Amino acid sequence: MQSKLESDLKELRETFHSGKTKESSWRISQLQGLLHILEDRENDFFMALKQDLGKHHVEAYRDEIGTVVKSINYALGNLKQWMAGKKARLPLAAFPSKAELVPEPLGVVLIISSWNFPIGLSLEPMIGALAAGNTVILKPSELAPMCSSILAETIHDYLDSTAVKVIEGGSDIGEKLLQQKFAKIFFTGSTRVGRLVMLAAAQHLTPVTLELGGKCPALIDSFSSSRDTKMATKRIVWGKFGASAGQACIGIDYILVEKKNLSNLVELLKKYIKQCFGDDPNGSNSMSKIINKRHFSRLKSLLDEHMVKSSVVYGGLFDEENLFIEPTILVDPPLDAAIMTEEIFGPLLPIITLEKIEDSIDFIRSRPSPLALYAFTKDNNFQKRLVSETSSGSLTFNDVILHYVVDTLPFGGTGGSGFGRYHGKYSFDNFSHEKVVLTRSFFIDIWFRYPPWNDTKLQL
Ligand code: NAD
Repeated sequence: MQSKLESDLKELRETFHSGKTKESSWRISQLQGLLHILEDRENDFFMALKQDLGKHHVEAYRDEIGTVVKSINYALGNLKQWMAGKKARLPLAAFPSKAELVPEPLGVVLIISSWNFPIGLSLEPMIGALAAGNTVILKPSELAPMCSSILAETIHDYLDSTAVKVIEGGSDIGEKLLQQKFAKIFFTGSTRVGRLVMLAAAQHLTPVTLELGGKCPALIDSFSSSRDTKMATKRIVWGKFGASAGQACIGIDYILVEKKNLSNLVELLKKYIKQCFGDDPNGSNSMSKIINKRHFSRLKSLLDEHMVKSSVVYGGLFDEENLFIEPTILVDPPLDAAIMTEEIFGPLLPIITLEKIEDSIDFIRSRPSPLALYAFTKDNNFQKRLVSETSSGSLTFNDVILHYVVDTLPFGGTGGSGFGRYHGKYSFDNFSHEKVVLTRSFFIDIWFRYPPWNDTKLQL
C-alpha cells in the first residue's frame, strides 16, 4: 500500500507535470496566497513565535513576518521580468542563429528549515520555489511546534494544496523525506545534518543548497570619535542579543578588540545591554528565551568548562524554569574551549583581545569561513585588507545583520557555513534551471563540418 508520503509526492509530481505551475498567473496566485496568510493570520503567527521562542511581536514582525512580506512583494513586483528569457550573444562562427537562456522550474523541491526563525526560514525559500514554478514540500523544525503547526494549517488552506505540502516532524521524518527523489533540496540547519542531507542527495544526484551555521566574528577598531565607538557597540548589542537571544546564524558569535580598548568596550556593552533590556533582563519582554532544555543545558555547559566561567565579566544568570539566559560577557576564554570552537547560538558573548586589530585577519583565517563577518572600522586600508584577505559568506562594515534583509543581495555561506545562495532574484535562480535555447537557421551551411575528413578541411 502507498504511504501518505508516497501519495503526496505522486500528487506533487502530477501537478508539476500538468504544467500549471509554469503559468505566471499560478505563481502570482501562490505568492499572493502567502501574503494573505501573513495578513489574515498575523496575530496567530505572533502568538506562535511567542510560545515557541518568547519573541516579542515587534521583533517577530521585524525579523520574520515583515521581512517575508517585503520579500513576497519584491518577488511579485519582479516576477515577469525574472521569468522572461535572456538573449545570449553568439560568436560569428555560430551565424546565422540566435540563443536565449530560459529559466525553467526544477520539479518537486524539498525545503527543510530550522527553528530559530521558524517562519522566515521556511517561507523565504518558499517564495523562490513558488516564484520559479516548482511544487514544494516544506518540513519545518519540530523544535518550534506552534510555528510548524500554523504553517501546516495555513499553507494547506491558502495555497494550492496539490502543489504545496507541509510535512511536520523531526529527524525521523526528515530522514524519510531524504530517501525520496527531489529535484532540489534546500536545507537550513546545522553542519552535522547538512552532511547527512548531502549524503542522501548524492544517491539521487539531487542538487542541494546548504544554509549552515558557524561562528560569526565582529571586530571593532579604535575610533577617534566616541560617537562612532558608542554606535558600533550599540549595534553589536543588538546583533548579539536583540535577534532571537543570539540564536541566529548571522548573530555575532564573538568580538575581537585591541587590549587597550577592552575596558571601555565592556563598559559600553553593559550600558547598552541595560538600555535595551533593563536592569533585570529576565523580566524584560524584549529578549527571547532559549528554545528548549537541551539547548539551555548545552549553553550552560559551555561555561562549565575549565577556565571559562572565570572569564565571565558580566551576566551569567541561567533561569532554567523560564529557559532564560542573561546577556553574558566573557573576556579571553581559552581559545581551545568549546565556547571558542563551537557555534554558541545563544546570548553568551566572548571578547578576544589582540595586540593590534590587524591581527584579527590571521585569527579569522585560522578558523572555518564564517557565514557573516562584521568589521567596525573606518580605516580604508584595513577595510581593503579584510575584503581581500578573509573569506566569509558576507562581510559587513559598521553594522550587523542588515545584509540579510536586502533583496538585491544574495545570502549564503561559503566553506563550512554552506553553499548556494538565495533572496530576491537569487532565490528565483536557486530554484530554476537556466536552459539554453539555441535556434539555428537553414540560411547557409558550412560544408567542412561534415565527414569524410581530409587534411584540406584542417587547413580551412
Ligand atoms: P538541525 O540541523 O538540528 O535541524 C534542521 C532541520 O533538519 C530541522 O527541520 C530538523 O528536524 C531536520 N533534521 C534533523 N535531523 C535530521 C536528519 N537526520 N535528517 C533529515 N532532517 C533532519 O539545526 P537546528 O538546530 O534546527 O538549527 C540550528 C543550526 O542552523 C545552527 O547551526 C544555525 O547556525 C543554522 N542556521 C543556519 C541558517 C542560515 O541561513 N545559514 C539559518 C538558521 C540557522
